[in-house]
Amino acid sequence: MATKIDPSNDRMTDEEWKARQDLAACYRVFAMMGWDESIYNHITLKVPGEEGAFLINPFSLHFSEVTASSLIKIDIDGNKLSDSPYPVNKAGFVQHSMFHRHLHDAHCIIHTHTTETMAVCSVEGGLQPTNFYACNFIGRIGYHTFEGVTVREEEGQRLLENLGSHRILMLRNHGPVVMGPTLPIAFVQYWALQRACEIQLATMSMGKPILVPDEVIAVHQRDIFQTQASAEPGRADFDAMVRRADKIDSSWRE
Ligand SMILES: [Zn+2]
Repeated sequence: MATKIDPSNDRMTDEEWKARQDLAACYRVFAMMGWDESIYNHITLKVPGEEGAFLINPFSLHFSEVTASSLIKIDIDGNKLSDSPYPVNKAGFVQHSMFHRHLHDAHCIIHTHTTETMAVCSVEGGLQPTNFYACNFIGRIGYHTFEGVTVREEEGQRLLENLGSHRILMLRNHGPVVMGPTLPIAFVQYWALQRACEIQLATMSMGKPILVPDEVIAVHQRDIFQTQASAEPGRADFDAMVRRADKIDSSWRE
């Protein structure tokens, strides 16, 4: 079990505690959805009001075991800023730190190895405009050629170049990196991308897919982002999933 800390004894701001709870809940939602990968992969979140500070999962816990207090606060180089009995997967953070360092709107970064997203990252042509969700992303994602496990800092410049002005990077033969200015926005983007990839796999297995023409994609993208269920984008989507995760186990709050 995760070691508990008392936030009131740790000079922690209310904003940091709220960010910790949101991020811990997000890890539980990812576990519930099967978007976990043993003890690997990361979702990182900037600590509000504290420049250069980020929250990351403790390396050795499964996503389903992450709690608000067991998340580790680190600096941009992956050094611990909060006490934790757990290590940080520094190698895995290299790529995230590079995006956090250079993209000032990338406050939340999600990276997974799900079967469906890695499969789409591993096929020529990547994500195809053949389903509703995929049409959200066509022309809005970058692709980066596989260079081996992403632990070398010198790969950073090429990652940034291939991302360009997008905030989703498909690491070929590897998996997606989804970034957002808030956790709910990154979450809802990831959810739609995951669905797009799942449906692409199902479609490709059945026969020749129907390609959506460019002009229809343009209309779809113009109109899709007008629909919001909550004042804070993505919040209603995220909270609904957290309520589902809560029915399994609500210990992430601690
Ligand atoms: Zn990876």
